[in-house]
Amino acid sequence: MSDLATNTETLNRHLARFRETGILNLINGETRPAASGATFETLSPVDESVICSVAKGSAEDIGTAAQAAKAAFPAWRDMPALERKKILHRIADLIVERAEEIALCECWDTGQAIRFMSKAALRGAENFRFFADKAASARDGQQLQSPTLMNVTTRVPIGPVGVITPWNTPFMLSTWKIAPALAAGCTVVHKPAEFSPLTARILAEIAHEAGLPAGVWNLVNGFGEDAGKALTEHPDIKAIAFVGESKTGSMIMKQGADTLKRVHFELGGKNPVVVFDDADLDRALDAAIFMIYSLNGERCTSSSRLLVQDSIAETFEAKLIERVNSIKVGHPLDPATEVGPLIHKVHFDKVTSYFETAKQDGATIAAGGTRAGDKGWFVRPTLFTHATNDMTIAQEEIFGPVLTAIRFKDEEEALTLANGTQYGLTGYVWTNDLTRALRFTNALEAGMIWVNSENVRHLPTPFGGVKASGIGRDGGDWSFEFYMEQKHIGFATGRHKIPRLGA
Ligand code: NAD
Repeated sequence: MSDLATNTETLNRHLARFRETGILNLINGETRPAASGATFETLSPVDESVICSVAKGSAEDIGTAAQAAKAAFPAWRDMPALERKKILHRIADLIVERAEEIALCECWDTGQAIRFMSKAALRGAENFRFFADKAASARDGQQLQSPTLMNVTTRVPIGPVGVITPWNTPFMLSTWKIAPALAAGCTVVHKPAEFSPLTARILAEIAHEAGLPAGVWNLVNGFGEDAGKALTEHPDIKAIAFVGESKTGSMIMKQGADTLKRVHFELGGKNPVVVFDDADLDRALDAAIFMIYSLNGERCTSSSRLLVQDSIAETFEAKLIERVNSIKVGHPLDPATEVGPLIHKVHFDKVTSYFETAKQDGATIAAGGTRAGDKGWFVRPTLFTHATNDMTIAQEEIFGPVLTAIRFKDEEEALTLANGTQYGLTGYVWTNDLTRALRFTNALEAGMIWVNSENVRHLPTPFGGVKASGIGRDGGDWSFEFYMEQKHIGFATGRHKIPRLGA
């Protein structure tokens, strides 16, 4: 990995064109400013400087993009799967070719550390390869023979879909949503988060360069309450794949009600990591730290609540404090950095407000709890101890490098605490007792659970949450369930009697 100076120089080379032209929308294969001519600025969380201007799309741009996606749909749907597969693989190839540019731009735009973003860019390519290879089987169906009917069930793509993505690891998440939609034969209008437009633009460019026909993938930048809302309300958009906060998901459901929109939601979490006293405590410590402090804690699957058994709590927390204090906060383009700045000022204010809340609620700030430096949105990795599950810091998604530690007596109490929030995205259970692991994971309310591991993603497995953490699943064949309709066709053998009315 290159050093900070080299990374900065390379980044500036890549940013030069954005600084000159700003980030424009891509609709029907054409690069365009917003119809109104409006723009907004994207800022770097590192030093609060303006990176460039961005086209501020609104309902009119969404309308044009939806029209393009609708017009492009029949040809894309009917393209032989093997040809679609080739284009999707070409997108993956181009992502790999431009992985450094993507990683550097993502770090500068979002504050994520380069040590993680290089891998995230490549994961984006893997998402395309995975779904490209599944394109041919997306429409697999079933036959059911009876004496009177041959029942055939096929899957057909639902039509043009809207994809709305958040600012945390935005590149990887966008590929995770868009790749299966395209593989299924849907066309897309993508509205990326207003706080991280750089890599969404690069991704759309790549798709265009890879030979995706005009209108199959349209990019409209803008704000949620404007462009995002218009997308969810548009009658030609058949479904919305959304990743973001739970309260936004709820709003989208209401906005999409009039057009009976199908929705797929990947939402927030307050995920427990449960450490029993019989666990491999060194591995549990590494995993607990990694799952909350990597990616700045701005990660839906982060283990933001540590539930630790009384008998080991004192020792475990002491080791934790020492390690948390040694985590390196710094410039995201420095390969040594482990935690970079938070995405933007409003989010920084929200995260740091919990330091005061924790004190008022009676928790102990055992590490961090302050801003780091005086420029940019850096906070020190923070650990709250002696917390209880009814405290705000145990219930609300803080979405920063902030861990809340709560002690428990026995398995029963651990389960009550683990299930005691509105969320249910992930859970991490540390024990060497197999029977307990089985019992506990059966009763844990979460869409994804790992035993004696951090979050390790295998693309064929289902990804998603329960309760306020989401609706629907991604991964494997599950993504196609969302982007496709089941269609039944009955072929009569001519042997059944057709009811006859009248003379
Ligand atoms: P957010 O909900 O504020 O915004 C997400 C996107 O929704 C943005 O593009 C935004 O412009 C858009 N939006 C906002 N209001 C809208 C509206 N009324 N109509 C349509 N679109 C609208 O979320 P965020 O702050 O960008 O992202 C962080 C959140 O995302 C966290 O809660 C995190 O847990 C969640 N997340 C979940 C997963 C998962 O897989 N479960 C993955 C990543 C992030």
